Amino acid sequence: MTDNIKREVVCSGIRPTGNLHLGNYFGALRNFVKLQEQYDCYFFVADYHSLTTHPTPGNLYQNARQILVQYLAVGLDPERATIYFQSDLPQTAELYLFFNMNAYLGELERVTSFKDKVRQNPNNVNAGLLTYPTLMAADILIHKATRVPVGKDQEQHLEMTRTYAQRFNSMYGSEVFPLPQAVGSPAGLVKIPALNGSGKMGKSEGEASTIFLTDEPSVIRKKIMKAKSDSGPTEMNQKKPEEIENLFSLLKAVSKLETVEYFDDLYNRCQIRYGDLKKQLAEDMVAFVEPLRQRILEVGADEEGLRRIIDRGKEKARASADRTIAEVRHVIGYRD
Ligand code: AMP
Repeated sequence: MTDNIKREVVCSGIRPTGNLHLGNYFGALRNFVKLQEQYDCYFFVADYHSLTTHPTPGNLYQNARQILVQYLAVGLDPERATIYFQSDLPQTAELYLFFNMNAYLGELERVTSFKDKVRQNPNNVNAGLLTYPTLMAADILIHKATRVPVGKDQEQHLEMTRTYAQRFNSMYGSEVFPLPQAVGSPAGLVKIPALNGSGKMGKSEGEASTIFLTDEPSVIRKKIMKAKSDSGPTEMNQKKPEEIENLFSLLKAVSKLETVEYFDDLYNRCQIRYGDLKKQLAEDMVAFVEPLRQRILEVGADEEGLRRIIDRGKEKARASADRTIAEVRHVIGYRD
């Protein structure tokens, strides 16, 4: 891009804790692809954050590489956005250290996602988990991003990013950091439900309830045919129970509007057969996921191309991070 207009900076990342799924696609990636058209975007693979759950050295790079491949396969474009591994930017770790000096135990302990993690894994309450919000603040503010695409579950973290930016600015009497705001997509962020009838699609609901972008057609068909439904409506225009609402949400995500309306009408007239709905949903899902899966295989096979993209992303991200760190060190009082 050769425009001279300074565009707002957007920054976001996903942790490499497994293959990306339909929830990641509709809740984050699809939005990233749109944002790169309008903003100066930095998209990273959060392979520092992933250490909170202690991956083995043998898995770390492969998992991170797989997310990068999937970023590229869904349409993130290294010519438009800066796409990089978080661990290629040690400047982030330095900024994280500075933010940690002004982050307080009480405020970190009150974070909802921290409390959830403590409940889920009482034997792994490490300091990295506790300081997730300062690392996230460092990720965003290392590029002075003003816009962050966040889901509902990340709003509290973004609020804390503003707190750390503001605290740093007032402590050093400077305006080094902007106070970043959430950025939505025109279509809004869609929540994708799990196939087991409740909750949102994701690893916590299990493999069988989650459709991965790498799932083969036969796997998708099997998962959808086993999705939870019920014995059918008994009254005309009856409110849909959660598991049925969820099947319709999936249909809305991948099928044509006419298809959704067709089954909605059958439901309202108590004539729906869930087997038919699931068959249609499975075919539409396969038609949606299969081109992405093929693209993931293609991108993943091009080792040389990937290496170039990783190096280029690292270089671009470092140029931006170096500028910020130089300014930060200066206002803190280190020798230039
Ligand atoms: P995670 O893999 O949980 O770290 O999520 C990465 C991104 O995907 C976040 O922006 C989430 O909000 C989004 N995301 C994850 N699961 C879903 C889902 N089932 N529906 C919508 N968005 C999701």
